[in-house]
Formats: sequence, structure tokens, C-alpha cells
Amino acid sequence: MNFIETRGNEAGFKERITFSEAILSPSASFGGLYVPESFPTLDPSFLDPTLSYKALAKKVLQAYEIDIEEAVIDEALKRYDAFDDPANPVPLVKIKPDLFVNELYHGPTRAFKDMALQPFGFILSHLAKKRDEHYLILAATSGDTGPATLETFKDQSHIKVACLYPDGGTSDVQRLQMVTESAKNLKVIGIKGNFDDAQNALKTLLASEDFKETLQKSHTKLSAANSVNFGRIIFQIIYHIKAYSTLLAQGEIQKGEKIYITVPSGNFGNALGAYYAQKMGLPIEKILITSNANNVLKELINEGRYDLRDKKLINTLSPAMDILKSSNVERILFDLFGAKRTKELMEDLNTQHYYQLTQEELAILQTYFSAADSDDAFAKETIRNFAKEGYIMDPHTATCIKAYGTLNEKPLKTVICSTAEWTKFAPTMANAVMNDEIKRSDAEAIALLQEKLGLTLSPQIAQLFEKEIVQDEVIEKEKIQQTVLNFIQS
Ligand SMILES: *Cc1c(COP(=O)(O)O)cnc(C)c1O
Repeated sequence: MNFIETRGNEAGFKERITFSEAILSPSASFGGLYVPESFPTLDPSFLDPTLSYKALAKKVLQAYEIDIEEAVIDEALKRYDAFDDPANPVPLVKIKPDLFVNELYHGPTRAFKDMALQPFGFILSHLAKKRDEHYLILAATSGDTGPATLETFKDQSHIKVACLYPDGGTSDVQRLQMVTESAKNLKVIGIKGNFDDAQNALKTLLASEDFKETLQKSHTKLSAANSVNFGRIIFQIIYHIKAYSTLLAQGEIQKGEKIYITVPSGNFGNALGAYYAQKMGLPIEKILITSNANNVLKELINEGRYDLRDKKLINTLSPAMDILKSSNVERILFDLFGAKRTKELMEDLNTQHYYQLTQEELAILQTYFSAADSDDAFAKETIRNFAKEGYIMDPHTATCIKAYGTLNEKPLKTVICSTAEWTKFAPTMANAVMNDEIKRSDAEAIALLQEKLGLTLSPQIAQLFEKEIVQDEVIEKEKIQQTVLNFIQS
């Protein structure tokens, strides 16, 4: 299958490219993204309850006819063997008679980013080696993307990763996951500033001539591992299908019965995966989107307006959803309204920080999505209430309960995508459970929650506090360029 561009084709770009090409160089004409030219259909064999997660994943990848050999796909999917339960890397847990949690965080870094980044990293590294090309991956992280990106590429030849994080802007656990990574091909840089500063520093770097020259001289190409890369999206379709087939197998739903899928959204990669699954034929009634106080997505879906004009990023207790420009919305616009309109809307957003859908377009969007927002107080109360009943959910997952309580108009089963383990946000979890505002370190909060709730620690987190810190460099914004340039040449 080939890939086409969301904003139409510009001179100098191929009109159609392969999967390999789309993942090695993910930016398309006019700053657009790559999307599949067509979509395969799910026949009933995809919902066969005896299919293992890996077997289902392989079926989905092969249905997209990607240009990756079967043996390489098999190797990539072996990464799921390092999840808590290799036979069932994404447990589906029933927490109410009509409510199920798709736990997507049982991988090495305890966040759902592993679901896609683990196999994706293997495939990208394989392609680089096969072509004998060297790639640099730049990542700016507010906490979960960084650790998952470092973890998947560690010790892979032909790939280097430079990862920028805001010093003091992540949880201790997230920071430790990065600064204890010792592989030579990884560079972790703390910067004095916030996540915006980290992202802006990357943009400045990408635009700099020195940077381009250094890349050229060291025969290094640039790729990306964020969810603009379709190589991540394809792995985010699979677990939605798996959740549905598990419900079928458990007799919770009948064949063809529709369900709601609820997604705590930031860059919209997870939600896009659900949308593509629905497009392939998975019986989804609607995809319910939750935002936090940064509620651009809710505004778009409820009012048809993507409006950044007087919005400032608000720091919330669900930092992975603290996003204003949500990159994968563009792929939805393309799918519903075509390339010409997508280019127009995205240009409006760039120049006027604003776009407005027509009433007709909005009505179409609303046939697929509904949206709600949850504030920090709601998330904490939700965490506390569920903890009392014996279920632990992280602050991102908790926002989904807002959607579950308000948007599920029909009496259908709802599946919530749970995106992180509680250990990644332990101080917030402790405040929620204890109903206090006491400031605790991650280690203190983890110990307290273990004691109060009888929780066990995953080995990945337990070991973290013992590991040696090997990348503790924290620098001024101005020094980023030189630091990255030195790393590329090292
Ligand atoms: C990345 C992330 C999200 C947002 O997912 P998108 O695919 O970017 O919408 C939500 N929760 C957690 C914990 C995350 O790490």
C-alpha cells in the first residue's frame, strides 16, 4: 500500500511513497503528513478470539501491505514479549458492568507510548541498517515520549537520539527513566526552561544552517519518532481491535454490537488509531475524546473551531495532554474533507492561529467524535473514588470518566484507554488518594501509596531508584545547538 499527503503534493516530493519511506522521512509537502492511500477492511477473522495480540498485530500490518519483510515484522512484534504478560500485553479490565479499561501501559516505560514505539523503533532501526544510512531522532518531551523513545532505540546502530526535557518539568520517575539511560547512541539534555522552551529550541535547531551542514558532513539524516510518524499510528490501531475481540470472547457484547471508545487525548494519535479501526469496520458507535483544561479538542469537536488566539498552555496534573497544537487532527481533516481543504485549514491555523469548520463539516465530524473536558479537581476526585473501590487509574485515564459520565448517550459498553501506570505520577496520585495538598517526592508518594493501598511496584520502576545517573547535564537554552552538534559528531 502507498502513502499520500494530507496537504496535496508539492514539487520536489513524490506523490506516493512506501511505508518505509514514510517512516524514514515523515514530513510531507507543505508541512503535511503521510496517510495510507486506502484502508483494508476487517473481515471476521480479525476478531477471532484465539488470535494472540502478536498474531492480530501481524494480520493488521499485513492488511496494510507494508513493505517490511515478514521476518522483520515478527522480530519487531517480539518486543511485546517484554511486557508484563507476553500472551496478553494489553489486559482489558472490567470496572463497572458497562465500563472496561484497556490497560495500555504494561511495557518497559509504563506508559502507552511503548505500545507503538517498541515495535516501531525496531523497524526504523532495521531500515536504517539495511540501507546503511544514519539517522538522528530529535525529541522534546514533557515526560512520557522521552523515556519510551530512548528505550526503544538504545544500543541500535545507525540511530542516534537526542532528547530534550524541561528540568523540573517532569516527574522524578520520568526524569530518572531518561538520565539513567547509558547507551552511547543516546543523549539526554535537561534544559533550563519549560516544555515550550524545549520544543522551540528544537525548532530553532531544525532551521539552523550549522545544523544542516553538520548533518550533511556526518552523513546523518533526520527522522522523527513522534506521532506525526505513521509508523507509530499503525501500531495504535491494533489494541482497539483487540479490546473489541476480547469483549466478544468474554460474552460482554454480541457480534456487530457497537461500543464507545474513550481516549484521553493530546496529540490525537491514540484517538486516530481508534478512528482508523472504525474506518476498517470495527463497530464503534463514537470515539469519546477527553481534554484537560487545555481544551482545544473539545472546542473543535463541539463547536467546529480550532482557536489558539488567546490560549496559553496551562500546566495540569495530566501533563501528557497539555497540548495546544494537536498534530494528528490533521489526518482526520484530510480523511473527512480532502487535501485542498486541509491545506487551507492548516494554513489558517498557522497564520491566524485559528480555523473554523462549516456547519456541514462540523456535523460530519460529530458523527465520529464527541468531546468533554475534565479539570484537575474532577480527575483527583475520580482517582480517589475508584481507589476506594480497588481500581487504580492515573490522572490521564481519570479524565475519561468525564466522557463516560456525560457523552455515552446510548446504553452501550464503553472502553477507556488507560495511558499510564500510577507510578509515573505518584505525587498527584498520593494527593488524590489522601485528599491533601502535601508536596511529596515520587519515592515518598510511591511508598505511601504502596502502604495505604497495598500496591506492588513493577520491576522497571523498583529498579529505577537504584540505577546510576549517567546523563545529568542541564544546560541553558542557548547551549542546546552546540551540545546537539557535538553529539552528532561524537
Ligand atoms: C501521550 C499520552 C497521552 C496523549 O496521547 P495522544 O495520542 O498524544 O493523544 C495521554 N496520556 C498519556 C499518559 C500519554 O503519555
